[in-house]
Amino acid sequence: METAEIRRRWLDFFGRNGHTVVPSASLLLDDPNLLFVNAGMVPFKPYFLGQETAPYDRATSVQKVVRTQDIEEVGKTSRHGTFFQMNGNFSFGDYFKEGAIALAWELVTSPQDRGGFGLDPERIWPTVLDGDDEALGIWHEQVGVPLERIVRRGLADNYWHMGVPGPGGPCSEIFYDRGAEYGPDGGPAVDEDRFMEFWNLVFMQEELSAVRTKVDFDVSGPLPRKNIDTGMGLERIASILQGVDNMYEIDEVYPVLGRAAEMTGKRYGADSGHSAGSSAPDDVRLRVVADHVRSSLMLIGDGVTPGNEGRGYVLRRMLRRAIRSMRLLGYEDPCLPELLPVSLERMEQSYPELRTDWDRISQTAYAEEDAFRRTLAAGTTILDTAVSRTKEGGGAVLGGDEAFRLHDTYGFPIDLTLEMAAEQGLEVDREGFTRLMQEQRTRAKDDARAKKTGHGDTSVYRALADGVGHAVEFTGYSEVTSEA
Ligand code: ATP
Ligand code: MG
Ligand code: MG
Ligand code: MG
Repeated sequence: METAEIRRRWLDFFGRNGHTVVPSASLLLDDPNLLFVNAGMVPFKPYFLGQETAPYDRATSVQKVVRTQDIEEVGKTSRHGTFFQMNGNFSFGDYFKEGAIALAWELVTSPQDRGGFGLDPERIWPTVLDGDDEALGIWHEQVGVPLERIVRRGLADNYWHMGVPGPGGPCSEIFYDRGAEYGPDGGPAVDEDRFMEFWNLVFMQEELSAVRTKVDFDVSGPLPRKNIDTGMGLERIASILQGVDNMYEIDEVYPVLGRAAEMTGKRYGADSGHSAGSSAPDDVRLRVVADHVRSSLMLIGDGVTPGNEGRGYVLRRMLRRAIRSMRLLGYEDPCLPELLPVSLERMEQSYPELRTDWDRISQTAYAEEDAFRRTLAAGTTILDTAVSRTKEGGGAVLGGDEAFRLHDTYGFPIDLTLEMAAEQGLEVDREGFTRLMQEQRTRAKDDARAKKTGHGDTSVYRALADGVGHAVEFTGYSEVTSEA
């Protein structure tokens, strides 16, 4: 079943069941706490919090989502993308646990020729928050799932919040057993690759005033009404229904991977019979290319331009990582003009505006590749010389001053230096680099103060306005996000 068809069935099903179909909001929805929309519920947040009255009791959408915190997982797990689409159904004070679970069960298990997804009920494993006997009772007594397939888990897995202040509540996740060839038996607590989470039903009932970690947060009180917020990863259900090993192999993503393999002469999955379990570096790189090219397409589509801060920096990193991955696979020519149109062809089915805006989108991406190629051309020789010098001196660590010079003069972000040095077997003196960066910043601040601008260092305000304060969630590029 094609991804576009799955999305259609989703909206039809919930439409038939009294939900208003709401189009996806932009990835850049204005929320001061978020760099990007990270869940389907984000556009509905004021309704959940009772700040605004929802114009409907029930809604459904397929929301564009970016989760930068998952970037390190891309290509390594079978199920994490930076961009993905979240199918959602929402109840604003209307149905609650019973209704949400009944609807989910019906859609997932009813036969495909009757509009459902036709999954085998015996492969479904729901989880509930330990102590939520109400949800457990509904799954067991009303739906009929045997107790041995209902898993109780703690807050880390079965309490959902946005990662920032906002609504939250206990949740019930739905896992699909992909079979013995994917891993050991025993349910999601044993193996989350064999047992793949594809849907999360959140029983949204309270408001969080502070969120420190996944499990450390303050609840300020109950929400005015009990709500339902669910999210099903469209790419995950597509990988299940298309019988492929991972989300990079579904119809919306694989063509880019296939094209990248062709261009580089690599055979995807060559090193393992089972691509889901394949951590062969070339396979991971091909998946990273496929993921990042698609995410870049969608980000530029929604108006992000490459830059050194906040959202622009996330885009820049994704484009550069895709280009670097292609180089590591042996392809040195400009690659985006070959890859981006392939992604467009797949994504325009659901997002026709990508075609309308194609000139702007493609020019933005190709210009960034040109600029990056110039950076690489200027800095690579310097880096290589520094690497040889270090090695000749018998050292294993590239000096912090070299890393700083590459950054300062040639525009090499530290993570690029780290990566490229590592490829040649060297570490980098990060502490030395950071010290030099701090010294430079202090100098800049002193200069600014000396100039008596009256407002001192405005970069902090700029950073806040750009949401860069939350770019730290982009763990793939560590703490240097605002530096490169
Ligand atoms: P996981 O535990 O696998 O990281 P999650 O619990 O963080 O997923 P939720 O916040 O519950 O995910 O999001 C709802 C749904 O969105 C998930 O059930 C899954 O189907 C999908 N999803 C979450 N993260 C990703 C991702 N990085 N790429 C693709 N789909 C995702
Ligand atoms: Mg996650
Ligand atoms: Mg989970
Ligand atoms: Mg979840």
